[in-house]
Parts: sequence; C-alpha cells; structure tokens
Amino acid sequence: MILKKREKSLYLLKLERMMARLSEKNPKYRLASNEFLKHQAGYRGEMAVDYYLSFLSMSEYHIFNGIRLKDSLGRFFQIDTLLVTPWYYLILEIKNIIGDLEFSYKQNQLIRTYEDKLDRMECPITQAKRQRAQLHNWLSKHNFPAMPLEYQVIIANNHARLINADKYVYEKVSRHSNIPNLTNSLEKKYSGKVFTDKDLKRLTKLILKKDTPLTTSPLIQLKIEPFEIEKGVQCPSCKRFPMKRSHKVWFCAFCQFSSATAHLHAMRDYALLIGDTISNKELRYFLQLNSSSVAAKILSSQNFPISGTTRNRRYLLIKNNKLLI
Ligand SMILES: [Zn+2]
Repeated sequence: MILKKREKSLYLLKLERMMARLSEKNPKYRLASNEFLKHQAGYRGEMAVDYYLSFLSMSEYHIFNGIRLKDSLGRFFQIDTLLVTPWYYLILEIKNIIGDLEFSYKQNQLIRTYEDKLDRMECPITQAKRQRAQLHNWLSKHNFPAMPLEYQVIIANNHARLINADKYVYEKVSRHSNIPNLTNSLEKKYSGKVFTDKDLKRLTKLILKKDTPLTTSPLIQLKIEPFEIEKGVQCPSCKRFPMKRSHKVWFCAFCQFSSATAHLHAMRDYALLIGDTISNKELRYFLQLNSSSVAAKILSSQNFPISGTTRNRRYLLIKNNKLLI
C-alpha cells in the first residue's frame, strides 16, 4: 500500500516557476537551468521507479515516498523511498543519471563519464548508508521493534552503465527493473515476521506527522535577487509576459488570448518565489496593476487568512508549507 504518494517537491515547483520567470540573458540562467534539470531528472527517475514498485504485493509492502525526517542531533535526512514490510525495511536511494558510472566508494565518489565529460559527485552508496544510520537511530528512539534495515541505490536510467564495479557495488546498486528480484531475495533472507499491523499504524502516523518538506528557496541557493524575477501575469497560451487587464479580464497582446483567472497563477508564483505573505501594494507591483481597489477585490475574493490592521494588512499565501493558492 502506498502510504505517502510521490509528489513533485516544493523545491522542484519553485525551480519550475523560477525558470518561467528568469530571463535567458540573466548571467545565472545557465546555473539555474542546470539546477532545474537536475531536480527534474531526479523526479522523473523516481516516477520510473514507481512503475516497478507497483509489482510488489500491496498488502505486505508499505511505501513511503519522499520523506524528510530529523535525527536526534537535529540533522535532516531525506529518503526517496522507504519500504516497510513485516520482515524488513528497505531504503531506496534513486539516481537518474545517464552515462558510464564508476562507484568509487572508498573515495566516497561517483564518477560519471558522459559525452567525454567527467563529473564527480558524492557516492550514493555512502549517502544511502548515512540515511540508514539516521533512520536506525530515529526508529529506535521511537521504540519500534528492531528489524533488518537494508539500503539500495537504484539506477533509474536505461542509458547508465556501471563500469569498474566490484562485488560490493553490484550488491548495493541495482537497476530499477531489478526491484522485484531484490525484494524476493530479501524475503528469502529475512523470513521472520517482526512488524505487526499495530507497529505499522503507529509508524505511518509518526512518519506523516514528522515529515518536514524542504522549504529552502532556489533563489537564495543560486543567489538570484527577487528583482531579477520577471513581474506580471503570464499568458497561459503563449507563455509570454505580461498580460494586460481591462474590464475584469486579462488579455495577451501577442496571441489575443484572454483569461479571467490568469492572475491566480502569478499569485502562486509570488508565493513560491517571493514570500509567504503579500500586501495590496506588493500584489499591484507583481501583477503590474495600477488600481488598488482591483487588487483589494482580487485579494478578498480568495479568502486568504489576514494579519495586520487595514493599512498594514497582509494576506497569507502559504501556511504550514502548503500553498493556499
Ligand atoms: Zn499569449
């Protein structure tokens, strides 16, 4: 059973909208685009893995996707997929990387060669091992029964090839299509039932309660200032900026498309990229609107929670990491 379904992370949503509002002429465009493509590929890899997870027995395999928990020293750890069975736990660290991959785990490096270019990154085996240690500590802190806790690096790209791999690498790294074989052999290895339905219920409740999505802004990560982000309402049809408002409708001068609701997408972009709250003045500036009464009408029609007095009134766009628009 899927107990936490896969969703696009808040960080990836922010990256997507940042790219839509960043000029190609911006000196950081390339850096931003690489960051976006990396996270988008990661998400696509995770979705490719979900297909193979769907072959597992849903009554015995309990799946948590994209969880981020805090260990006892306050350090967060993120797990792409956690499988909980009556016999063992399995952490999947999913990598969607193309090219020749050399897991140089003794040096804690993954060396990737693709199109004559060489990249070095942290070894995913080490990453998964660290997640295992942190999850182990978290589970024992919360008094869950001791049960075998395994980890596996999953390669979710058919155009990846392992090179110079030794026995240890083959043991710890699998292709996504191999997941059912992997779980079969783990079922044979660990046949004693440890986890009860009661344990599972408590674990599910606790994971969903303690799961804390990353709220970091890519703008801060990439040192992009809010003024570098394109203002205005984007045309939903041709994607150009900005639409002009007249008679309660947004109109695109490029493709003649009109929309009564296009500003809602822009407000969502504001929430994702600029801030959790907005004032009437900030909304006018971001939507490139002149009228404060139109801005007030737009804000009051959404029933956002309000803080501050009339003059300093602010409207809440994000609450508890959830978008209200
Ligand atoms: Zn248009």
